[in-house]
Amino acid sequence: MISPSASADLLHAISRQLNASLNLDEVMGRVLQLTVEATGATCGSLFLLNERGETSRYILARPDQPPEISRQNVARVMHEGLAGWIYRQQRGTIVPNTALAENWVKLPDDTTITNSALGVPLLHQDRVNGILVLHHEQVGFFDETHLSLATGIAGQAAIAIENARLFTRLKNEHATLYSLITGMPIPVLVIDPDGLILLASQAARQLLQLDQDQIPLRLLNDGSKLEAALKNLRQNPQRRSVEVQWSDKQIFNVAINQVPQLGTVVTLNDISELKELDEMKSIFVETVSHDLKNPLSTIHGYATLLGAENLSNRGRANLEGLLQGVERIQTLIQNLLDLSRIESGIDEQVELCDMVEIVEDVIANFELAVAEKEITLTKDLPTGMLHVAGNSLRLSQIVENFISNAIKYTPRSGKIFVGLSKTETQVRLHVSDNGPGIPLAEQVKIFEKFYRVPLMEDGEWIEGTGLGLSIVKAIVEGYGGQVWLDSEVGVGSTFGCTLPLAAATPPSV
Ligand code: ADP
Repeated sequence: MISPSASADLLHAISRQLNASLNLDEVMGRVLQLTVEATGATCGSLFLLNERGETSRYILARPDQPPEISRQNVARVMHEGLAGWIYRQQRGTIVPNTALAENWVKLPDDTTITNSALGVPLLHQDRVNGILVLHHEQVGFFDETHLSLATGIAGQAAIAIENARLFTRLKNEHATLYSLITGMPIPVLVIDPDGLILLASQAARQLLQLDQDQIPLRLLNDGSKLEAALKNLRQNPQRRSVEVQWSDKQIFNVAINQVPQLGTVVTLNDISELKELDEMKSIFVETVSHDLKNPLSTIHGYATLLGAENLSNRGRANLEGLLQGVERIQTLIQNLLDLSRIESGIDEQVELCDMVEIVEDVIANFELAVAEKEITLTKDLPTGMLHVAGNSLRLSQIVENFISNAIKYTPRSGKIFVGLSKTETQVRLHVSDNGPGIPLAEQVKIFEKFYRVPLMEDGEWIEGTGLGLSIVKAIVEGYGGQVWLDSEVGVGSTFGCTLPLAAATPPSV
C-alpha cells in the first residue's frame, strides 16, 4: 500500500528524472527502473509501439536472452499475452495470480518466478505508444495503489518517450542531411538567413579552404568571390545564378536556391571547360561566317542581276527560290557575327537612348506584319522618356526580336501586348502573346544559341535560326540587365527584360 502523498512525491521526482534526458534508450531504461523501484516489483518489461502498433523497441524482464528468442517472445506476448491485452483494451490491469490468468503466457525456459503482474499502457494523444508490465513472485502482490502509481508514471513516461523519439528522429534526419550534403561531389553550402555557413560539402571546403571544425562559420564581408556573387544575387532577386571568374583557369556558376526550414543552398558548378568550348565554337563560327559572307554577297549580287534578264516564268520562280535561300543564309551569318561581336564586347558606341521612342519605332515597323496576320497589338508605354545607356541599334534589336517572335509564333488573329515601365533603378520591357506557349522543360534552354522548341504534334514549321533570343540575352546582359520568360502551354508567353535606368538627362548633341 502506497500513501497518496508518497505517491505524489514519487511522481514528481520521477517526472524530473525522466525529463533530464532525450536519449531514447536511456529514458526507457529509467522509466522501467523507476517504476520497478517505486512499486516494489521484482522486474518488468517495457515495449514501445509505432503508429501501426508494431513493437519498435523493448526492454525485457529477462535481458540476457539471444535477440532472436527475445523477438519471438515479444511477438507472443503482444499476440496472446498481457501486453497484447493492454494494447487492445487501452487500459491498465492487475493479474493477481498468473497461474489462473488466460492472458498470461508462460514462456519456455523462463526461470524468473512471476506469480502476479500489473500492466499499464503508455498513452499519448489517445494512442498506445508503449506498454509497461511489472512482475512479482508473490501471488496478489499488486493492489490498486500500485496500479494508480504505475498509471501516473506511464503518463509521464509517454511524454518523455515521445520527446526522446522526436528528438531521435530529428537527429537522424539531421545526420542524413549532413551526410548527403557533405558527401556531394560538387561544392555545396547551406547558409542561414544571418549569413552563417551551416553545412559545406567536402568539395566546397576544399574550394574555399575551410576546415570542417571552422563550420558553422559567419560569411564575412571579406570581399571574397563567393561574397561578391551572393551580394550580386541578393541585389537581383529575379536572378538564380551568376558566373564567377574564380581564378585564371576556373569559372564557376554560382546558383542559389531557397529551401524552406533549411536556408539558402548555394551550389558552385565548375563551367570552365564549357566556357572554353564555347569560346572555341565562337572563334570557329566567326571565322567561317566571315569567309562565307563575301562569296554569298557575290552570289546574291549576280542573282539579282539575273532578275533584269528576260526570263521564263519558271526561270523567274527558280531565281526567286535561289534569292530567298541566299537571304536566309545571309541572315544566319549576320546573326552569328552579331552574336560574336556582342559577346566579345567590341560593340558600337554607347549613348543615352530613349526606350519609349525605340519601342514606338519598332512597333511602327511591324505594323504591316501585324495587319497581315490580323493580330491585335496593344501597348502600355509611359508618356515621358526612359533613358538607357546603350547602342540604339542593339536596343532596337531586343525589342524587334521579342515582337517578331510574338508575331511569328502567335496564330492568326492572336493578341500581343507590349509593356514598358520603370522602377527606381531599372527599365522593364515585356512582350506578351496568346500563342502556343513554351513547355516548362524547354524554358531553361530557350535563351541558348541555336535552341528551338521541338515542334508540337499539330504545330506548323516556322523558319528561324534559334539565335534571336541568344542575341537578346547577350545584349541585355552586356548592359547589366536580365532576360526572363513566363510561359504556359496553351495560354501564351511573356518575354521580358530589365535594363539599368540611366540618368534622365538627354545627351548633348
Ligand atoms: P528563332 O525564332 O529564329 O527560332 P529565337 O532564338 O528567337 O529563334 O527563338 C528560339 C525559339 O523559342 C523559337 O524557335 C521558338 O521555338 C521559341 N519561341 C520564341 N518566342 C516564342 C513565342 N513568343 N512563343 C512561342 N515560342 C517562342
